[in-house]
Amino acid sequence: MTATLLEHTRETPDQSPLDELVSVAPATTGGPDAIVVDGLAKRYLNGTEAVRGISFSVSTGEVYGILGPNGAGKSTTIGILGTLVRLTAGHAAVAGFDVATGARDVRRHIGFATQEIGVDDLATGNEFLVLQGRLHGLSRRDATRRAHLLLGLVDLEDAANQRIGEYSGGMKRRIDLASALIHLPPILFLDEPTEGLDPRARVAIWETLERLNAAFQMTIMLSTHYMEEADRLCGRIGIIDRGLIVAEGTPAELKASIGGQTLSLRYAPDSPAELLARVRATLLARDDVLAVVASDGHLSVEVEETAAVTPELLRVLQREWAAPQALSIDQPTLEDVYLRSTGRGFGEEELAA
Ligand code: ADP
Repeated sequence: MTATLLEHTRETPDQSPLDELVSVAPATTGGPDAIVVDGLAKRYLNGTEAVRGISFSVSTGEVYGILGPNGAGKSTTIGILGTLVRLTAGHAAVAGFDVATGARDVRRHIGFATQEIGVDDLATGNEFLVLQGRLHGLSRRDATRRAHLLLGLVDLEDAANQRIGEYSGGMKRRIDLASALIHLPPILFLDEPTEGLDPRARVAIWETLERLNAAFQMTIMLSTHYMEEADRLCGRIGIIDRGLIVAEGTPAELKASIGGQTLSLRYAPDSPAELLARVRATLLARDDVLAVVASDGHLSVEVEETAAVTPELLRVLQREWAAPQALSIDQPTLEDVYLRSTGRGFGEEELAA
């Protein structure tokens, strides 16, 4: 029996949208590697080298994140894998097909949700999804059913007959995600899926992605500049900086690679910049301090071992009338990993971009 026939027969009312979608999704196909990238590079016509030779692979069923500041080359990388951008060197295979020579096959196996939301503002959510389903070759009846289920999955049932132009930013992201899923692809690409969304809307997207990954074994590759998003969602992360992958691993592995510990010093929000600059210089001059990152009255100080160093640092700062308001000892974060890998703070690079 084909998947389409199954879709007609399994319309039992007590199934969740996700259960019913799983029952009609094609079995996950392909080998153990959903995505293989080897020496990939992209030089745009204006000479910008957006991606400068990167290699990684993503296993079937994995959630892989490419994390980096604005301008690092994330969209370009995801765009190449999604066959929207042409590579200029190296190789990439998605679902076993070469992106350069088998773009049509790649497209059949992937969903792609972008930052520039490709939705039609005049259509209702339901009309838009039915049309997308028809474009993917579903019958009207199947497309209607699929649209209904996907609207349930992304929690837009109540807005199904509202024009997309009236949707909030978070709702637009969700309808875009639903449309990327209309053919139930085994591999999903997401370019900055929660860019600009408020925390609640962001969590709603994260939860949907987690459910999709768990239920379908769907391989998900996303780009993000939100550390928290990469940390929470991704099984593995590649940190990208100026077109190169500078660190890769599970969030835990990346943080463990730091070795040292982080001491957080907090100063009053209205502290003069001169005070913070002086504290930073004092700390950086010491051998027992490995690195210092400053932002908004907050200094993050990387040291070999906090217990050994903290009392002495405090004494020094007190002597200079520069003791912090509060002090805490933190585990390393992905920000620390980025700093260690590039020698710059993530925020500095974002500002420069
Ligand atoms: P990210 O997604 O990490 O913000 P991008 O891949 O969008 O990074 O961009 C990487 C670099 O390539 C940036 O310097 C950007 O300005 C440049 N770039 C992106 N798209 C184009 C384009 N179509 N033409 C020329 N340069 C581009």
